[in-house]
Amino acid sequence: MPSPAVTDLLAALADGSVQVVDLTQPLSETTPVLVLPEPFANTPHLSRRPLSRFDDDGPAWAWDVLELGEHTGTHLDAPIHWITGRDGEDVGSIPPRRLVGPAVVVDHAAAVAADPGHLLTAEHLDAFEAEHGAIPDGAWVLYRTGWDARAQDEAAFINAGPEGPVTPGPDVGAARWLARHPGVVGFGVETVGIDAGAAGGFDPAFPVHNFLLGAGRYGLTSLAHLAALPATGALLVVAPLRLVEGTGSPSRVLAFVAR
Ligand code: MN
Repeated sequence: MPSPAVTDLLAALADGSVQVVDLTQPLSETTPVLVLPEPFANTPHLSRRPLSRFDDDGPAWAWDVLELGEHTGTHLDAPIHWITGRDGEDVGSIPPRRLVGPAVVVDHAAAVAADPGHLLTAEHLDAFEAEHGAIPDGAWVLYRTGWDARAQDEAAFINAGPEGPVTPGPDVGAARWLARHPGVVGFGVETVGIDAGAAGGFDPAFPVHNFLLGAGRYGLTSLAHLAALPATGALLVVAPLRLVEGTGSPSRVLAFVAR
C-alpha cells in the first residue's frame, strides 16, 4: 500500500506547493579548492580526460575519466577526515537515515557583509534556539553567510590576506556547542571548509573539524542558495558517493521547501 506520507509529498511536488532547491555548486575545472600553506599537500583542481567523444574510441558514446580531490566543491566531510574521528565512519559507512533530516538555517549574511572574518559564537546559537525553538533531532545546521555569491571567483572565495584566509565560520565555543548538541547530525557552510579562515590559529586549531568530526557528526561545504530556505521547516537530502574508506565526497545536496 502506498504511504500517505509519500503520496502527499509527491502530490505537493507535483502541484508546486513543495519545491526542490538545489544547494549544490556546479562542479568543474574552475571549482575553487582549499589552499594549505607549506609544507602541507594540496588537493588538485578537478580535471578530466576524454575516453571517447563519438569517435574511433567510442563511435556512439562520450565518456571521461575524472581526477578530483575527495574534498572538492560542494562536499561532505566524514568523521575519518580528522584525526579526532579517525576511528569513526568513512563516507561509505554513513547510514542513509542520517543523510536525510530537518535543515535549520542560521543567517549571518548581514554580519559577514560588514566583516568577512565574522565568527559564529555559542551565544549566537543559543539566541537562534531562543527565537526558533530547539534544533530538532537529526538536524543539519546550515550557516548562511552570503559567501556562495563568491563561488565562481576563486580569489574572492578563498579570500587570502597577509594573515591567511579571511572567511567566516564558527569560533571554538560554537564548534563545541554544535558537536555537543544532541540534535545536530551535521553542519553546513557556504565557504570552502567548515572552519573559519582564521581557524588554523584557534585553540584547538580547526575546532569544527576537531570537535564535530570527533563526535561522529558530518560537515558540508560550498553550499549554495541557502537564501531560498526558511530558518526552520525544510527537509534536507545529502547524497555523497558511497566511497569505501572515503574521507569525504562531492555531494548533491537538495532541500525540500514548502512554497
Ligand atoms: Mn572537506
